[in-house]
Amino acid sequence: MNKYDSETVASQLVKAGYQLIDDWKKADLLLVNTCSVRQHAEDRVYSRLGVWLKFKREKKPHLLIGVMGCMAQKEGGNLFKRFPDLDMVIGTYHLYQIVELIKEKTKEGKVLKTEEIEEGEPPFPCIEVRENPVSAFVSIMRGCNNFCSYCIVPYVRGRERSRSPESIEEEIEYLAEKGVKEITLLGQNVNSYRGFSSLHNKYLDFPDLLEEVNKIKGILRIRFTTSHPKDLSLKLIKKIKELKKVCEHIHLPIQSGSDKILKLMNRGYRVKDYLSLVEKIRENIPGVSITTDIIVGFPYEEEEDFLKTLKVMEEVKFDAAYIFKYSPRPLTRAYSFPDTVSKEEKERRLHLLLTLQKEISTRINEKFVGKSVEVLVEKKESQNWFGKTKEHKSVILKGGDNLLGKLVKVKIFSNRKGILEGEVEKIPTLSL
Ligand code: SAH
Ligand code: SF4
Repeated sequence: MNKYDSETVASQLVKAGYQLIDDWKKADLLLVNTCSVRQHAEDRVYSRLGVWLKFKREKKPHLLIGVMGCMAQKEGGNLFKRFPDLDMVIGTYHLYQIVELIKEKTKEGKVLKTEEIEEGEPPFPCIEVRENPVSAFVSIMRGCNNFCSYCIVPYVRGRERSRSPESIEEEIEYLAEKGVKEITLLGQNVNSYRGFSSLHNKYLDFPDLLEEVNKIKGILRIRFTTSHPKDLSLKLIKKIKELKKVCEHIHLPIQSGSDKILKLMNRGYRVKDYLSLVEKIRENIPGVSITTDIIVGFPYEEEEDFLKTLKVMEEVKFDAAYIFKYSPRPLTRAYSFPDTVSKEEKERRLHLLLTLQKEISTRINEKFVGKSVEVLVEKKESQNWFGKTKEHKSVILKGGDNLLGKLVKVKIFSNRKGILEGEVEKIPTLSL
């Protein structure tokens, strides 16, 4: 989501005549888009700002420096107290006004914009500046209503609001014209998407939206993230199976394998609900890949709770897992809980889960060796093409010219360090 927001901001600036450059020391404007999900992300921003502001003081007094996004929303004017030379603090609701805000700055003193407003639709055409020419993110909704007890997102990104299907489709059609082949639909919980379609004169839910997006010419693959387990419907499972372009990959964060912890986290499901959901998904979508997020060291997580998480991981066998050490976040409910698990213990639990997941992912990847898979080629890296399978597995390709943006048939011959290697078999002419 932050990457999408950064690209939207960069696009607006480029359209207004600004130029993006690689060497930050040569820039006249430096903006950092920020994340508040864990303290570590914030610490990195503080140290980056320290370096930039020192450079401004010592070498380039006219340099404009701004903090955008979640940290700006959360900290507001406090950032000016901590960094008196900072020029702009722009919260999550004001990213679409970046050009006017910079103009405001050149006339007046500091810019502080953090009030919650109806931010409207992204400026169109939205994304001109993208790191990946083949695969693009598209935000379908903003905010979150779930209030998981550890999570700051609802406080810094506000209540859930869905974009209209027409505006989403228009953006994707534009991206398709620009050569994009794969899109990832983004929302904190895509399963609660509910966008009013003026064309159909009714609200569309997420499976309905997928059906509309599936019709867009030029787009070969559709991905989405994230799905909250408490409201992933059978209708969605059926659509993933039925719609050709929708990839068989579901990111389904479990967070913990202990009911006690899930309750304290306010996740709204029990482990057995999660397991039966996984079963339903696997029954209906053969070959589906399931990935997850896990937090270790949540308050009151005893050894016994942790072992339950380990057991669930062994049982489910996720294709991949993003594992995080619990980080207490101000404003959240869990912030008032004692941080009962020591730093060292969190580290130990993290390490154990990472090791187990690595083994599982390797075993799953082994099954691909010798098989033919379809790969969408995203980039060239030192002589080799690089792409992903529908299940979101990374593949390095041997051979082939001009493969960028093509869907190719690849025979996998090895699995090294979590990356599959394969040889291009054929480049089909697609009529999707
Ligand atoms: N909306 C998504 C998650 C967004 S945050 C969802 O519900 O799945 C991405 C991940 O960061 C979460 O799934 C969680 O595992 C992790 N996370 C969120 N808050 C955290 C915290 N305070 N400490 C550690 N990890 C956290
Ligand atoms: Fe945070 Fe939970 Fe919302 Fe995800 S669903 S953004 S973890 S509150």
